Amino acid sequence: MALSSSDTLTNSVINNDSTESEIKHDWTIEQVKTLFDLPFNDLMFKAQTVHRQHFNANEVQVSTLLSIKTGACPEDCKYCSQSARYKTDIEKERLMEVDKVLEAAKKAKDMGSTRFCMGAAWRNPKARDMPYVLDMVKGVKELGLETCMTLGMLSEEQAQQLNAAGLDYYNHNLDTSPENYNNIITTRTFQDRLDTLDNVRTAGMKVCSGGIVGMGEGKSDRASLLAQLANLTPQPESVPINMLVKMEGTPLSEVDDLDSFDFVRCIAVARIMMPKSHVRLSAGRSAMNEQMQAMCFLAGANSIFYGCKLLTAENPETNQDIALFEKLGINTETIIDNNDEQQVTKQLYTAAVDQQHQDIFYNAQ
Ligand code: SF4
Repeated sequence: MALSSSDTLTNSVINNDSTESEIKHDWTIEQVKTLFDLPFNDLMFKAQTVHRQHFNANEVQVSTLLSIKTGACPEDCKYCSQSARYKTDIEKERLMEVDKVLEAAKKAKDMGSTRFCMGAAWRNPKARDMPYVLDMVKGVKELGLETCMTLGMLSEEQAQQLNAAGLDYYNHNLDTSPENYNNIITTRTFQDRLDTLDNVRTAGMKVCSGGIVGMGEGKSDRASLLAQLANLTPQPESVPINMLVKMEGTPLSEVDDLDSFDFVRCIAVARIMMPKSHVRLSAGRSAMNEQMQAMCFLAGANSIFYGCKLLTAENPETNQDIALFEKLGINTETIIDNNDEQQVTKQLYTAAVDQQHQDIFYNAQ
């Protein structure tokens, strides 16, 4: 039987050995929609096949995200409770002291996180903030953790300063498709976002960039967002796929739910298009049951945030994550120098129980 065009496309993606030169960077929206339109089981099989070519399918990378400055953001992202433009019940907090950040990072490491992400609700960091932020990066690095920051837009110079301080990753999401962008944010352009990613890359840091789905966008927007991400050269090392968490008081608080299968499809398509990236099942997990999360891991998600909150959105308790990992036989990508997986799991579980009532950890979308 002759192959259909969708078979030809998806097979050509799967059958390469995905050296960097062979990773596809010229996706069209139509090609991505073809992947979205595959029968669900075919899509999952193809995503899992690609996933196993590049990753241990039973391993998930774990990050912790701390909000180092909360609320009062001048931007107007319509999903965000930290925007000063919307009436939400967020408690504003100034930039945290460096010592407090390092204390939180130490706890995150004890809980098994390998990467510590620090997020500030800024349009961009000011010159007066940079010395503190740079000290945070250096201190977290010294603890032996990978470092990631999300501080808004960065100039070339700020990106170089962060790189010199030892920052490994910079997170800056594209959020949505270029076509849908103005419905979601008007205070910075899509091109501003691409420019920041360019500054991050040029400075020598790794890129964490993804988006949010369930904001009332269409399938074509989801396809277009993933095409934008996959066509970055090189592709982002981390790709957070967020399910909108509807925050009361924001303009998107009443938007219709995205069908769960459409969300899983996003993960699977992202996995196929960005075979070597960590695809992060990010905000929205607290609204997903264990089976839904398991399906996302099957679709190729291999990164999550630990902690009770994601910046301002709820996140599952860490011990729930450990319990789910145990049920699924998933190990965490760990920096604990210990080859005894049982002992690592026990160590994580013990630390999680100790820490489960901590409310200092946040996850961002
Ligand atoms: S998403 Fe970031 S930039 Fe946008 S309003 Fe929230 S904190 Fe500000």
